Amino acid sequence: MNATFRVGSGFDRHRLEPGRPFVLGGVRLDADFGPVGRSDGDVLLHALTDALLGALGLGDIGEWFSDRDPRWKGADSTQFVLAAVDAVTDHGWRVGNVDATVFLQQPRLSPYKATIRDRIARLLQIEMDRVNLKAKTGESVGTIGRGEAVDAHVVVLLSANEARPADG
Ligand code: MG
Repeated sequence: MNATFRVGSGFDRHRLEPGRPFVLGGVRLDADFGPVGRSDGDVLLHALTDALLGALGLGDIGEWFSDRDPRWKGADSTQFVLAAVDAVTDHGWRVGNVDATVFLQQPRLSPYKATIRDRIARLLQIEMDRVNLKAKTGESVGTIGRGEAVDAHVVVLLSANEARPADG
């Protein structure tokens, strides 16, 4: 069957601790705390990578970039997205649109939204109006509301390239 579209979803959570740089969607936030992780802990780019891999049926980010691999210690997570984008192209697809939600008590994301959307659009080589970013607080309850973690959920739609040889 030659499918025209494929959907993928990704989710990620990182614990927040004082004194760590806070990178979200490839953009540095002004905060005196940030995510704990082997890489830069960018939940949004990790969820995006998982959504892209999921749409392709190619597993998850942990299979591609193991937490135990010393190469990814402190890594810039944009490289995970770029590897997934290469896989999208290699398999005959292109990104149609992205809809992302970040769950974070503080800082407020409104001042960063346009910059993050632009950063993601550039990584995916698509127009910025194809990237939507929604921000939710934790309503001051639970792990998000207490500022213990940041979550991200991403949905992507891939569409088939016209020159695509066969379903894969
Ligand atoms: Mg992660």
